[in-house]
Amino acid sequence: MAELILDSVSQSYGTRQIIADLSFTLPEGAIGCLLGPSGCGKTTALRCISGFEAIQSGEIRIGGDVASRPGWMLPAEKRRIGMVFQDYALFPHLTVADNVGFGLRGETHAARQARIAEMLELVGLGGHAGQFPHQLSGGQQQRVALARALAPRPRLILMDEPFSNLDVELRERLSLEVRDILKREATTALIVTHDQHEAFSLADWVGVMHRGRIQQWDTPYRLYHEPANRFVADFVGQGALVTGEVINDHQVEIELGVLNGHVPVECDASGCDECMRNCQVDVLLRPDDIIHDDDSLMLAEIENKAFRGAEFLYTLRLPSGQRALSLVPSHHNHAIGEKIGIRLAVDHVVAFRRE
Ligand code: ADP
Ligand code: MG
Repeated sequence: MAELILDSVSQSYGTRQIIADLSFTLPEGAIGCLLGPSGCGKTTALRCISGFEAIQSGEIRIGGDVASRPGWMLPAEKRRIGMVFQDYALFPHLTVADNVGFGLRGETHAARQARIAEMLELVGLGGHAGQFPHQLSGGQQQRVALARALAPRPRLILMDEPFSNLDVELRERLSLEVRDILKREATTALIVTHDQHEAFSLADWVGVMHRGRIQQWDTPYRLYHEPANRFVADFVGQGALVTGEVINDHQVEIELGVLNGHVPVECDASGCDECMRNCQVDVLLRPDDIIHDDDSLMLAEIENKAFRGAEFLYTLRLPSGQRALSLVPSHHNHAIGEKIGIRLAVDHVVAFRRE
């Protein structure tokens, strides 16, 4: 297994730039994810890393060795990369065992059989060796595809939307299983998906992509709690922006009260002297930042509600008319139009300077 480094990689089709200045480091044994809306360049990034697409600037390194630079690329088959695709791409006429053994042709019969058995055990399909792909469920087929990719001991695993063909419930379970399998093999893996739940349950590091650029490369926790810009704040998790005013370098006032934490650098004394006080910002409030409290004197009107089983997601109308979301245990079943008590529980202030 090996470290993967992308250093300022750009790629274009003709004159159209698809990937711009893409940089990140995925440490050996880590699971990374590129997360972004359809068309933002995720598959193109994987094709550059796997050696199917040339790059026009920057460098890709796998395990310290240059794999791509402008005008030169290591052939795909020499990169020792295992691939897993959305549609599994299993060989329909081969048994599960022969699918898993496909990349092991250079090895002795005994070594091959041992590795196949080991991989099938790893993905929990020990009893299915003689079956054909069509006899398995979608989730099982994807585990066969993963076993096949891992069998030749690649330096890196790449997965393109691996769970998109599966139903939501299975997706979350399988992504946790796949994480467990990759960790047991100490695999370096890069997954691309448009589904943040998948990204968050699988990856150690997530890069949020928009129009070919990484907006933020960070842990899931920090992406959610400390988004670097409005795109990340909006794309990751739910929330609402409310207006606020900077009081000093660690306090922002919104209509619900004063929040403590970091104010945007550009509103900080060092960035912008004259607007240090009363700099106008938009403050991100997550649904878990607003707590329903029957004893609170601060009231908000329920404008909408969505039942989530354990919780309701209430859309609240604040006194000024601004909207905010609140996640409330579902035994607090209030009607639309009702006014409920709320209080703030904001750990980190996330504010963007109003343009
Ligand atoms: P994603 O996987 O994030 O949905 P892609 O990497 O598939 O995005 O595509 C990014 C952009 O590149 C899209 O606008 C797509 O139309 C364009 N694109 C993809 N492949 C080609 C190609 N072979 N030739 C020209 N444009 C392409
Ligand atoms: Mg794609």
